[in-house]
Order: sequence, then structure tokens, then C-alpha cells
Amino acid sequence: MSDKVARHDFYGRTPLIAGNWKMYKNIAEAKEFAEAFKKIYKGEQETKVAICAPFTQLQALVEEFKDTNIGVGAQNVHFADEGAYTGEVSLSMLLEIGVDYIIIGHSERRQYFNETDESINNKLKHIFWDSEIVPILCVGENLEEREAGRAAEVVKYQLEKDLADLTAEKVATMVIAYEPIWAIGTGKTATPEQAGEMCTLIRETVAEIYDSETASRITIQYGGSVKPENASEIMAMKDIDGALVGGASLEPEKFLGIVEFA
Ligand code: 13P
Repeated sequence: MSDKVARHDFYGRTPLIAGNWKMYKNIAEAKEFAEAFKKIYKGEQETKVAICAPFTQLQALVEEFKDTNIGVGAQNVHFADEGAYTGEVSLSMLLEIGVDYIIIGHSERRQYFNETDESINNKLKHIFWDSEIVPILCVGENLEEREAGRAAEVVKYQLEKDLADLTAEKVATMVIAYEPIWAIGTGKTATPEQAGEMCTLIRETVAEIYDSETASRITIQYGGSVKPENASEIMAMKDIDGALVGGASLEPEKFLGIVEFA
């Protein structure tokens, strides 16, 4: 299934390639990336493209990409409307900027910032009830869990907790990124089979929690050391609808290399 249009026609889902810049690039560098990327990206394919940047770069990117079909995403949001939450950013602040996506529950936030399945669930509810922004929910096991044969169990548990009380109608519109922690920033990519197997498990779990119609509509990405060299074999797996790209999204040519293989 290497042909993009055929893929879309066959599975009914448009691939999404999203860059996650993490805590990289200042405003000047973000604009420089956007200018360079707009020159080389033709936007002729079906594939959706987005850049998820640090908060301070979002406004500049929305402005840069305003006449294009390149989306912009944040990397986090607070679950309250407003309040005494020093250092946090609310959904209405992101709506004011005009972002299209918000990454929720990235493993780095779970690991370093005490993000729990409960706070992730609260954030997803807030996004769905109060906006049309598309959440990109990240799930994935660590190395110890994979080696103990517990990857499927861990990811299922995360999904059950993170999606609690969300309606099928909303869930069908969201993105879930399978990001095995052991493959993030390590250069170690999951094999296409490992990634494909886990993305199938995610779709099956969504079917169990909701129904097969919801499961067939949801977008499932793989993330973890995706580069132009391995993008096509990962994207060829039937339940993988795109990629969440860290390091390789920082350079316009590399990111384009992945977009073109999707
Ligand atoms: P890398 O592509 O740098 O491994 O990062 C993956 C990731 O965490 C994307 O969210």
C-alpha cells in the first residue's frame, strides 16, 4: 500500500505526519524553518502535515502557515479553564492563537512532569467539550515493560484510563500516537512489525471500548526515531496512519522526506 491516494481510499483515513519540536527552536528559528519548508513542500498529497512547537513559537507558526494546509499544534494544555496555575497555559489561550492540534500525555511529560492518566483524561475531556482542536494522545511502554512481555497490557491500560468517559463520536476524530519510550530519541526504531502490531492492538482496544466504526475512523500514528529512511516501511503497515516525528522534524528537508513517504 505504497500509493497515498490508494491508501486513503482503501482505509478511509488520511495520514497525518506531525513534527514534535519538543523544547527546540526560538521564534527566529521557527520562522526560518517555516520559510524553508514552505519553499520545498508542495502540499499536493492527501497527507496532512503539522508542526507541534513550544508555546512561544505557536503564534509565529500560525502566521507563517496561514495560507497553507500545514497545521500547527501545541505540546500540552492545562485541564482547567483558568486559575492560579503558575506556569501553565489554558485551552482558551491556545484557541486564541488558533492551533489545530494539541499533543497530550507525551511520555516525556508522563516521565518528567508527573503527567498521570487521570490528568490526561481531564485534558482530553476539556479539549473535546470546549473546542474543535484535535488531540494527539501519546501512549507507549518503556523498555522494561517491553522486555517483560507487558507492552500490550501497558498500552491497553493507558487507553482505558485516558479515554474514560469520552464519547465514541469525539474519539473517532482524535489521533493516538503509539510511541514506545525505548525508541524515542534513541535511534532505535521499533521494527515495522512491532509498530504495526501495537497500532493494531490500539485499534482493537478502541473497538472493544467503543465499536468497530469508531476504531476504523481513528488516526493512529507511530512515533520513535522516524526518519526519511524508515518512514515508508513503517507507513506501509495497515493500522499506521502517520508518524509523530521528533528529531527529524527539526530540519525542513528531513521532515519533507518523511511527509513524502507517508
Ligand atoms: P524522535 O523522533 O526524536 O525519536 O522523537 C519521537 C517523539 O517523541 C515524538 O513525539
